[in-house]
Formats: sequence, structure tokens, C-alpha cells
Amino acid sequence: MTDAETPILEVRGLTKSYAPRTTGWFTKPAPPTKVVDRVSFEIGSGRTLALVGESGCGKTTTARMILQLVTADQGELLFEGRPLDLKDRNMARRYREKVQAVFQDPWSALNPRMRVGEAIAEPLRLNTSLDRGAIAKRVAEVLRDVGLDPAMARNFPHEFSGGQRQRIAIARAIILRPALIVLDEPVSALDVSVRLQVVNLLVEAQKRLGMSYLLISHDLATVRYQANDIAVMYRGAIVEDGPSETVFETPMHPYTQALFEAARFVQPGTEAESDDTADAALPTKSGCSFAARCPKAFARCFSEAPSLRAVAPKQRTACHLYEPLESRAETVSAVG
Ligand code: SF4
Repeated sequence: MTDAETPILEVRGLTKSYAPRTTGWFTKPAPPTKVVDRVSFEIGSGRTLALVGESGCGKTTTARMILQLVTADQGELLFEGRPLDLKDRNMARRYREKVQAVFQDPWSALNPRMRVGEAIAEPLRLNTSLDRGAIAKRVAEVLRDVGLDPAMARNFPHEFSGGQRQRIAIARAIILRPALIVLDEPVSALDVSVRLQVVNLLVEAQKRLGMSYLLISHDLATVRYQANDIAVMYRGAIVEDGPSETVFETPMHPYTQALFEAARFVQPGTEAESDDTADAALPTKSGCSFAARCPKAFARCFSEAPSLRAVAPKQRTACHLYEPLESRAETVSAVG
């Protein structure tokens, strides 16, 4: 992304806490658990940003805040360069049209009693004034775009395989020609044999329509194949981000290194993925959230939380092992 380009979406300081369930009349309520803590990133036009991390790290809650399915406690979103204000009806409508989602389970997007043609047409009926003929034409087009026969518009969801249902969910997501699609584990519920087909369909649709993707995934092979940029989350916060190629080649944060190392031994599809309601509590003590697990931890790690800072020209990490770029520049100019 060049400096001149406005990101499609800027996420600034999104934070979310949940109150724990009370266990009884006489137990003292525990303090709310922060599941997402000041998460910030941006997604460039036509690019894919992957949010990765183990189950419960906060990536799904972050995605749900972007989709307005969960209300953030703090933080803001900038869409197409403007702060998102949902009280502005025009802006809210444009955001609903231009930001779509494809979820892990294609059933969640499809009403089992509705013919798939009607399901795909629904966003058009709700958001445009197109007549029936024009809508039917667009439905046939998008069905072809996702590799399905337009005649299948008359069928019901149960008549399709899992891979075909995900294609239908993608058709429904792209029919309004969105600027951004949130892909929440889009292939992890599918048979391994059809995953690559669906990933390729997403890649091809992105090239053709110029959309941006926010990809939520624990499948690092898919992420490496699909994403331009990557942000690694641990316990509700981003601990490292940068261009995907750079982060995969030279992961700097010890958690990223451990995550990539572990992925080499994980069979595809073996990790149970979930939403983030089961998120581990963020540490309340001071210090690095990874310190208890980190093989490289030293005294400072237990007393001071590292902030996410640029440690290489395009790479940021939150770790005391690295000197931030800005202080290195200051040292050089002082010596010079
Ligand atoms: Fe490990 Fe310390 Fe870096 Fe945290 S700050 S990741 S504990 S070395």
C-alpha cells in the first residue's frame, strides 16, 4: 500500500471486555475480562490482512466488532478514510452494503427454507431498487462467478455439499460488490479436498472485483498463500504485524515463532476453532502477557509491558528483545 492510498478500513484501539458469569447469590462478582485490548490495524484497498493466533486470542471478537455484531467498549473504525458514524444513516447504509462477511459455517448465512436464489438475492432486494428481472440476472451472474449452475437457484441449501454451500455464501457476500469481506475461518469447516478450490475462488474473486479481505484463520498455510499482511494476536492484543512474506520469513516475537513452529506439527483441521467468548483473561499484572510461556523472558519482561513498535521498516512487534527503530535512529544521529 502506498502512502497516497487511503485504507479501506482503519481499526483504532478497539477494546472489548465481558463480565464473567456469576456463580451464585453470595459470590463476589469478578471484574470484567478484557478479550480485546486496544487493537489497531489497517486494511489497504484490494489487499488481504490475516488475523492469526490460537483459539480465544480475540480475533473473532475483533471481526465481530468490525461487523457491528458486537459493540466495542472503546476504539473507532475509519471506513474509506472517514470515522464510522452509524447515526449517519447514509454512512450506516453504505457500510452495511460495502462490508460483508463469510463465516465458517455456511449454514449460518442460509435459511434452510429459502431457495438459494432468494437467499443470494436478499441483500439486493433489501439495499437496491432493482426490479425482479434485474435481480434474477445478477443472481445468475454471481452463481456463475462462484462456479455454480444458475439453474441451481431453485434448489434448497440441503441439496448442496458443504463446499457448494460456501460458494453460495460467497455469492451472497459479493452480490452487492463489497469493498471489504470479513472471512471468518471460511474453509475450516470444509473437507480438505475442497478447501483449496474455495480459497482459489476467493483469490480470483478478489482480483476480479478489487475487494479487500480481513481473513480470520488459524490455518497458517492458507494465510501464507492468501494474505498480503498479517497481524498476530495473543491474549487480545496484536504482538506482531507486517507484510505476510516478511513475518513468515523472519518472525520476531517469540510467540509468533512458537506459533509457526507448532503449526509445522499440526494436521490441517485438527484445531477446534471457536469464538472468543472463552478467551483467557488478559493478565492483570504488569509485564508482558507472554512472559510466563516465553523461553526468552528476562527480568524486565515481568515488570514492564512491551508496546507494539516498529522494529524493522515494515514490521512491528511488542517485545523487549528488540530496540524500536525510532530509538536506533536517534542513537545514529546522536553519534553522527
Ligand atoms: Fe518474551 Fe520478554 Fe519479549 Fe515478552 S517481552 S515476548 S517475555 S522476551
